[in-house]
Amino acid sequence: MSSTFTPDELERYARHILLKEIGGAGQQRLKAAHVALVGAGGLGAPAALYLAAAGVGRLTLIDDDAVSLSNLQRQVLYRSDDVGAPKVARAAEALKTLNPNVTIQPYAARLDAENAEALLAGASIVLDGTDSFETRFAVNAACHALRLPLVSGAVGRWDGQIGAFKSGPTRDRPDAERLPCYRCFVPAAPPNAETCAEVGIVGALTGVIGSMMALEAIKEIAQAGETLAGRLMLFDALGGEARTVRLSRDPACPVCG
Ligand SMILES: [Zn+2]
Repeated sequence: MSSTFTPDELERYARHILLKEIGGAGQQRLKAAHVALVGAGGLGAPAALYLAAAGVGRLTLIDDDAVSLSNLQRQVLYRSDDVGAPKVARAAEALKTLNPNVTIQPYAARLDAENAEALLAGASIVLDGTDSFETRFAVNAACHALRLPLVSGAVGRWDGQIGAFKSGPTRDRPDAERLPCYRCFVPAAPPNAETCAEVGIVGALTGVIGSMMALEAIKEIAQAGETLAGRLMLFDALGGEARTVRLSRDPACPVCG
């Protein structure tokens, strides 16, 4: 399997190839994979850095924001010089510098229900690190329609959560084998949803959850271990505790029911 890697790639990915759960075959799958990241902020930045470093062949970045000074406390892709510049353009440059083997497709666009399927088509897996329920619902519906696995992360204050949703890839299976979508878990936007801009966020916590999103993508692509599909991990940074709960499918879900 490793015969199609250059000597530089073999050295760059040596620590992955040593792992029996990844190896040459898993590294080939990473090279052949296309990960779409919705949001290039606190969660998307560390996720993109680790996925580029890991040798994922193609990364699509979707974000219509410009870098602001208050982003730099946690959005580790950007530097002080980047303030005012479009995030996806600067992110593409930084990721290319980290690993020139990776093809980066930047879209300075806001994903919505109208364009979601067009933006995500062709991806092998989607990571959602946005903080808008409207966007999250659009990403989830597109992933279900396109049969794509979705890894979704969220943070606020000192708390983080991450789940994987595979209603799309399991939609044609018998009922008992179908997995929940994001909308089974969050049927409607909470009335008093808070954003990090309103309540604050510990910068390093976005690194924890964003890195876990990259980790779940790597596991899914390399077919290593047990992914979080059908489960949700909740991380309490102040208490230093994590727990995982099972999610069930809602037969009345507006997306996958
Ligand atoms: Zn559902």
